Amino acid sequence: MSRQYPVIFDKCPLCGCKERLIEEAVNEEIAKGRINPGMEFGLEAPTASVLWDQTKPSLQAPGIIPMKDICAECGFPYYRKIQKVEMPVTRLIPPKPQQPPFLRGM
Ligand SMILES: [Zn+2]
Repeated sequence: MSRQYPVIFDKCPLCGCKERLIEEAVNEEIAKGRINPGMEFGLEAPTASVLWDQTKPSLQAPGIIPMKDICAECGFPYYRKIQKVEMPVTRLIPPKPQQPPFLRGM
């Protein structure tokens, strides 16, 4: 059975509190209209782990993106949401060497 994403951890693994500081601050800014609803922020800028074998040419590869927050009760930082997305990897493929136009057909 394949895992369903996003994987959500809805409470602090240390104390069980369900309130998080960054999520709370973002919701306050959404309420003020300074951030659009649906925007997500984490403790660190999200960095994807791209699961791509560079010896296999591909246009896309799965990426795992973790979102970290801080427990409002005890301050423990933990991942509250892990997403899996398809990411373009074309820019990582080295361009094919091109022949100058005058050599074509020779
Ligand atoms: Zn906690």
